[in-house]
Amino acid sequence: MSRNDELRARYQAAFMPNYGVPPLALARGEGVKVWDADGNAYLDLIAGIAVSSLGHGHPALVEAVSAQAAALAHTSNLFLHEPEIRLAERLLDLAGGDGKAFLTSSGTEANECALKLAIKYGRRTGRSYFVATRNGFHGRSMGALSLTGKESIREPFGPFALDVRFVPYGDADALEKAVTGDCVAVFLEPTQGEAGVVPPPEGYFAAARRICDATGALLVGDEIQSGIGRTGAWFAFQHEGARPDVLTLAKGLGGGLPVGACLAFGEHADTFAKGDHGSTFGGNPIAAAAALAVLTTVEKDDLLANAQSVGEILANGVAAIDHPLLKGIRGRGLWRALVLTAERSAAVESAARAAGFLVNAVQPDAIRIAPPLILTAGQARLFVDALPGVLDAAQKENRS
Ligand SMILES: *Cc1c(COP(=O)(O)O)cnc(C)c1O
Repeated sequence: MSRNDELRARYQAAFMPNYGVPPLALARGEGVKVWDADGNAYLDLIAGIAVSSLGHGHPALVEAVSAQAAALAHTSNLFLHEPEIRLAERLLDLAGGDGKAFLTSSGTEANECALKLAIKYGRRTGRSYFVATRNGFHGRSMGALSLTGKESIREPFGPFALDVRFVPYGDADALEKAVTGDCVAVFLEPTQGEAGVVPPPEGYFAAARRICDATGALLVGDEIQSGIGRTGAWFAFQHEGARPDVLTLAKGLGGGLPVGACLAFGEHADTFAKGDHGSTFGGNPIAAAAALAVLTTVEKDDLLANAQSVGEILANGVAAIDHPLLKGIRGRGLWRALVLTAERSAAVESAARAAGFLVNAVQPDAIRIAPPLILTAGQARLFVDALPGVLDAAQKENRS
């Protein structure tokens, strides 16, 4: 039995079945490459779901995490520490200032913070309901789940305490109709990630900003997946110059360490009173040091420009492929989805893996690509060159 298969069997016996059994046990990584437990190498084009922004084993991340672990691993919120302060200052600065932060250990927790902040705002202003989008994803906790627009993952766990109204994503008119002076907050991804990297029509996020300004509803931008350079800007909202009132971040922020943030701007920065919210691990020194290393490296190595230029090379390369299973490519920067002409993404994902590329069948007809931001043009071309063969193999697998 291969080492992969042995570990998969033990995984199946030891873990709840919610994830199924993943196809590979990964053992180590270096840059954009990872190796499985049997020593097979892959080009990692999914980066642990848009998380490993500096790739694997990046010296800046290794150094920051090791040094902080040796100096001080944890304080809780009973004591403060410099890394968390530097991180909050840096994030606020990048997001345009005039705000305050709450640090978390995950994206879901960042959204829970945003939600509690919004609830306080709603109580203070006498507002009653929330708006979110169909197929949107905000997390799996009971609060974040109630805002998540995919019925198949939400409804088995209802009913929920919040009145949430779902609108079709990308339709500014529908949003305008749904948001009245009684609406507490709109939770919005600048591009829907889990739905399959689905960008809205241009101007949608700016329209949401206008609608919220007109009605007084809070605009909560969920940039847990889109933030920290993924689209070629620090934050996707910057493409439309429309800053939300509350911004949530996680995934790519820690480069693989668990850290998230909820930033609130202007009058909303001081919504919480002492005792209103908390987290034992949130803003932990090691996680904060990792996030600082990510931000510093993204800036120093100009990874925003790299995400733009290599993202274009990838998109142009894929767009030039003529294959009956490939409809096209969507997304921005190093955050893309290959759109298929049939619901065969699982077969494409496994054919890509057999060819040495890790990608993600995010939807039945869509393959998500969210590689480390350090991906080179040459590595992007390797994938583009292999793609016709991968699609051929996936078609054959489906016929048999
Ligand atoms: C991944 C994700 C979340 C949840 O983050 P976790 O770290 O898994 O808790 C929330 N919103 C969006 C847009 C995400 O992509």
